[in-house]
Amino acid sequence: MAPPQGCGGAVPSGSMGAEGRLAAIADEVRACVRCSLASRRTLAVPGEGNVLSDVLLVGEGPGAREDATGRPFVGPAGQLLDELLRSIGWARADVFITNVVKCRPPGNRDPQPEEAAACAGYLDRQEQALDPAVIVTLGRHSLQRYLPGARIGGAHGRLRRAPGGQFVFPMYHPAAALHQASLRETLFHDVRGLPSALLTARAAIDDERMTAVAAQSVAASVLGPQPAADDVEQMTLF
Ligand code: URA
Ligand code: SF4
Repeated sequence: MAPPQGCGGAVPSGSMGAEGRLAAIADEVRACVRCSLASRRTLAVPGEGNVLSDVLLVGEGPGAREDATGRPFVGPAGQLLDELLRSIGWARADVFITNVVKCRPPGNRDPQPEEAAACAGYLDRQEQALDPAVIVTLGRHSLQRYLPGARIGGAHGRLRRAPGGQFVFPMYHPAAALHQASLRETLFHDVRGLPSALLTARAAIDDERMTAVAAQSVAASVLGPQPAADDVEQMTLF
C-alpha cells in the first residue's frame, strides 16, 4: 500500500500549517519544566516524522539513546520499530512518532501518572496539528491514554474507536519483544493489519465528513440565509 500520507495535515489550520505548529510545540517541549523529569534529562524528545502523515505512533517515553540524541525510537526498540514498518512497505519517514512523556524517566521506569498528566497537553496539540486518521499506541501507557481500562492482551492488533473519537490501533511495545521473544511474532502479525486499519479509518472519517456537510446544507436550506457574524453580535447587544 502507498505510504500513509494524507492531506489532513497539509491543510493549514488556523494561522499556521501543521509543520509550523509542530515546530512550535517542539520548541516548547525542549524548554519545558512542567514536571520533575525536566531536571534529569539530557535532551527532551518532542517527536519527529512526516508532518503530512495520516499515522501517528505514540510510545511511552524516551530511553537512554533517545535522551542522548533528542530523537524518538533510535535505540534497540527503535530498530525493531523500523523493521516492523519496513515489513509492510512503510518507512519511519512516512509516519510521525512521539511519546506519552517527552523526557526520560530515570532508569527507564514507567512514567508516573502526574508526569503523563503534565505532558498530555503537548500530545493533545500534536494530535490536533497532525489530525491523523489512525493513532498507533505502542505499549500500555499509550493505550491507557486513549482507551482507559483496556488491556493490551485483548486490544492489540485491532482497530478501535476511542471515547475521544480517535481511531486507535493498539500494539505491544517493541521493547517488550526484546525481553519476550514470542511477542516479536505477535508484533509482526499485528502490524500486517495496519494498512487495512488505515483504509477503514479513512473511509469512516470521509463518511462522517460527508454526513456533516450534508446535514449542514439541509440545515441551511431549512433555516434560509443566516445573519452575518456582525449582525449576530449587534442583535445580542440590543
Ligand atoms: N521507547 C519508547 O517508548 N519511546 C522511545 O522513544 C524509545 C523507546
Ligand atoms: Fe515537560 Fe513533558 Fe518533559 Fe515533563 S516530561 S518536563 S511535562 S516535556
